[in-house]
Amino acid sequence: MESAYTQANKELEKIRQKNAELQNIRHNEALMKAPNLGEIEADLMKQGTRLLSCVLKKCEDFEDIKKNIQSLQKEKTELLLKNGFAEDFLDDIYSCEKCRDTGFVDGRRCDCLKKLVSKYIGENSNLTEYMREQTFEKFDFSLFANQGENTATTLKIMQKVCEKAIDFAEKFDLTHENFLIMGNAGTGKTFITSCIGNRALERGKTVYYQTAFRLFEILENSRFNKGDDDSAELVKYAYDVDLLIVDDLGTEFTTQFTLAALFDIINSRIISGKSTVISTNLGFEELSNLYSQRITSRFVGNYQLLQTSGKDLREILRKRNI
Ligand SMILES: [Zn+2]
Repeated sequence: MESAYTQANKELEKIRQKNAELQNIRHNEALMKAPNLGEIEADLMKQGTRLLSCVLKKCEDFEDIKKNIQSLQKEKTELLLKNGFAEDFLDDIYSCEKCRDTGFVDGRRCDCLKKLVSKYIGENSNLTEYMREQTFEKFDFSLFANQGENTATTLKIMQKVCEKAIDFAEKFDLTHENFLIMGNAGTGKTFITSCIGNRALERGKTVYYQTAFRLFEILENSRFNKGDDDSAELVKYAYDVDLLIVDDLGTEFTTQFTLAALFDIINSRIISGKSTVISTNLGFEELSNLYSQRITSRFVGNYQLLQTSGKDLREILRKRNI
């Protein structure tokens, strides 16, 4: 997969092409209505070349050529107006006037390029549109208010989980921390991972979200070069991305190969100081049974545990929506 920056530059190139085509269409339209325009433009070109060589040779008729050019430009404008065109009808067309679609102003990235890069970073994150909406600001603690005698404890736990998750999302690139989010189904693990992902994206970090199920499919496909052709590039992205999120570990179909591949990703990311968030419905014992000792010991030593709590929120949400 190409980097967001390369993708953004390609889109800028398309914008430049589209504008050049539009300019061409306008030019032909003007020439149809005002054939003299061609002559004036040819003259302008000639005078322009003369002016340039005059500057280089420091000749005396510099001022005369300049006047010629000015009067030709005036003639051109009048011709346009006479034929019902706006006077800037043939001017260069730019989608961004600030950088003239180059993407740079004074050697710095223009806002338009920054916006495109962040758009592609968002798209490459693989967070669905629905998940992109899930932010810490929208974390609804009232969902945890119906837990009977456990309400106070659950609320306290979830507030702590939320605090830790915010803290992590704000500075994982400095702390190089990793999170293992454990908890029963429907206790908000995916919501929290989405929140973390979105905060990281807001900070301009690259994020790659994938369910464990799909990640293992991708790993398997990349091994045999089957399935979608993107598999190999997605695997590379899983190694390189600033923040990797693997959701719902334990639901996937594993083979010796995929387990080894997962271990390599987890291990490489730890070594290179890149953070990973993994969520699972399983407990440590189940994890150890399902995965090798090598993998679980990496979790224990290098991952912070976040334990969610409470009843299945999906049931509460369903009732609320009725
Ligand atoms: Zn710009």
